[in-house]
Amino acid sequence: MKPIPVNEPLLNGNEQKYLSECIETGWISADGLFVRQFETQFAASVDRQFAIAVSNGSAALEVAVAALRIGAGDEVILPTFTIISCAAAIVRAGAVPVVIDADPVTWNMDISQIEAKITSRTKAIMVVHIYGLPVDMHPILELADRYHLAVIEDAAEMHGQTYMQRPCGSFGDLSTFSFYANKHITTGEGGMIVTDDPDLAARCRSLRNLCFEPVRRFVHTELGWNLRMSNLHAAVGVAQLERLAEFVDRKRAIGRQYTELLAGIPGIELPLVKTNYAENIYWVYGIVLKDEVLFDAKVFSEKLAAANIRPILKPV
Ligand SMILES: *Cc1c(COP(=O)(O)O)cnc(C)c1O
Repeated sequence: MKPIPVNEPLLNGNEQKYLSECIETGWISADGLFVRQFETQFAASVDRQFAIAVSNGSAALEVAVAALRIGAGDEVILPTFTIISCAAAIVRAGAVPVVIDADPVTWNMDISQIEAKITSRTKAIMVVHIYGLPVDMHPILELADRYHLAVIEDAAEMHGQTYMQRPCGSFGDLSTFSFYANKHITTGEGGMIVTDDPDLAARCRSLRNLCFEPVRRFVHTELGWNLRMSNLHAAVGVAQLERLAEFVDRKRAIGRQYTELLAGIPGIELPLVKTNYAENIYWVYGIVLKDEVLFDAKVFSEKLAAANIRPILKPV
């Protein structure tokens, strides 16, 4: 039996054609036409004014934290259940990550626990949409407003997803995406920051590009990074974006099929098909083992691997 991977990128659209254009024109590094086009089209796809392409989704989070001037002494609220990139961006900035446990039903952060964790040092809430269902955003936006907190929305797993008909990635002061190969659309490696705030957009652009000054280029008043996206990566991104709706439909169909076939098996909980604000897009099709099951996630994953299914193990 052929191994079943978590995800296989489909690169049979315009990827090759656009990559050839990069080679033919010689424009393979940053700031090429595909980078501009990818930023413009991506921003429009999530109802945003500005998009800043970066080298990966972790970099997008680092730039977002730095752009908001989060630093020593500040606290940022985030979920326990997410990738290390979220906490790493906060810790590297010298700030303190304050974690919120996962809701057992949606697997997203339990929003009822947030308010109790807000202190005078809290600067931002880093919202991370997990696996395929968005976080219930309205209560969080209301809290952020009431306590004057910034919202960083990590929408890396939410390409093509909506919350109450509005695109994920349109909710944060800054929202971030990843185009790693296992996401719904990919550039191999890549990331994007989106915002409607022109000042934050300018700060992100500057931080991404070593904080070169617009006028006196080699006079630097702040430390940035080189986290630019190459034109080659953006060329793949433009081609992938053309097919996003198709990929989301396919992922939903695969998710529905798993749910049909696994329904009724005792001892396991399956992902929610939908909530009252979104329908699952199954970035990852997770399975939770109930306490009554006599083996743990590691053994379960070994059993799946023996059947040629290679899950990623996430102990809860
Ligand atoms: C994939 C992912 C990232 C990191 O993106 P990279 O491009 O791999 O650095 C960040 N946050 C979430 C929620 C992710 O799923």
